[in-house]
Amino acid sequence: MHKKREFDQASRATLSALLAAAFAATPAMADTLPLGDGKISTSPRAGYLFSCQTTFNSNAGAHASGDWLDEAAGTWDPDKKPTVDGSVTWAGEISIAVEGNQRVVRANGLPNHPTGIYPVGRSDDAYQYDRNPNTIQAGDVLLQLPATPQKAAGPSCVPMGAIGFTLTGAKVFNALDARGEDAPAREIQDACDGHPEQTGEYHYHSLTRCAADNKSGPSGHSDLLGYALDGFGMFGMYDAGGTMLRSGDLDECHGHTGPVAWDGKTVEIYHYHFTEDYPYTIGCFVGSPKASSGSGSGGQQQAQPQQPPQQEQQQPPGRRDPPPKKR
Ligand SMILES: [Zn+2]
Ligand SMILES: [Zn+2]
Repeated sequence: MHKKREFDQASRATLSALLAAAFAATPAMADTLPLGDGKISTSPRAGYLFSCQTTFNSNAGAHASGDWLDEAAGTWDPDKKPTVDGSVTWAGEISIAVEGNQRVVRANGLPNHPTGIYPVGRSDDAYQYDRNPNTIQAGDVLLQLPATPQKAAGPSCVPMGAIGFTLTGAKVFNALDARGEDAPAREIQDACDGHPEQTGEYHYHSLTRCAADNKSGPSGHSDLLGYALDGFGMFGMYDAGGTMLRSGDLDECHGHTGPVAWDGKTVEIYHYHFTEDYPYTIGCFVGSPKASSGSGSGGQQQAQPQQPPQQEQQQPPGRRDPPPKKR
């Protein structure tokens, strides 16, 4: 703003040159995010993922990356990354009810927003990077979370597979792909930031753009957008006052305590936040996570098989057929 005023005096040519320079420089500054690869820890650590799984399949994951990812700089640019094409609608169902001291979630595993076309088609620009061969499948979900979650004696690690869910009906997985690297940076998701794993479970590794955050909480705090499996709320990217939060503003589990809208009241309670930067969702559980259940739910361990994941199976780049779609 200040600079624009100074430009009032500048000649038209100078102004144009300055604006051109500013526009050339600004997007890279504003839009790149640090790559989270390697930020895995075996104890709670801010900005890291306290991961239960510590060995990974180096042959999994997207098979190639493009110009959105700058390995040398250790950054990636979400605006440059392709998305999986398509707009497929689903009959997503989710109900959440407090029953006694439990918050009971029943869902069919499908999102209430459109998804991309999976398996990724050959004509899709995403295909040259990530040939996700899986098909989105419904799967009954039943979760019984504590309605009033309590902190456990200490934080606990985050498993592969579901770590929470959003009100869109789809689950949230942690920040890692099957290779143990930064999933939002490396894998290609659809326009709602989701994709299916090998059992067909559609999920996100970061905040979906397709959940509305009206920042209707106290003093403009983000809305509740989901719940972690320990029962604590997962909120959007904004703190009270409308400030966008980064991981560095949050504790090692990617949350903080403050007033939020909770079951129709303003309550001072611990809660997690989604952020734009790694680890995007929770870094550890402050409460005691419940196992997710139901067929196709991809509970904690099932979601990422030990043996060749069909999803994100590595393929050398080139004009080859996609990996087998057997499941
Ligand atoms: Zn995934
Ligand atoms: Zn907050």
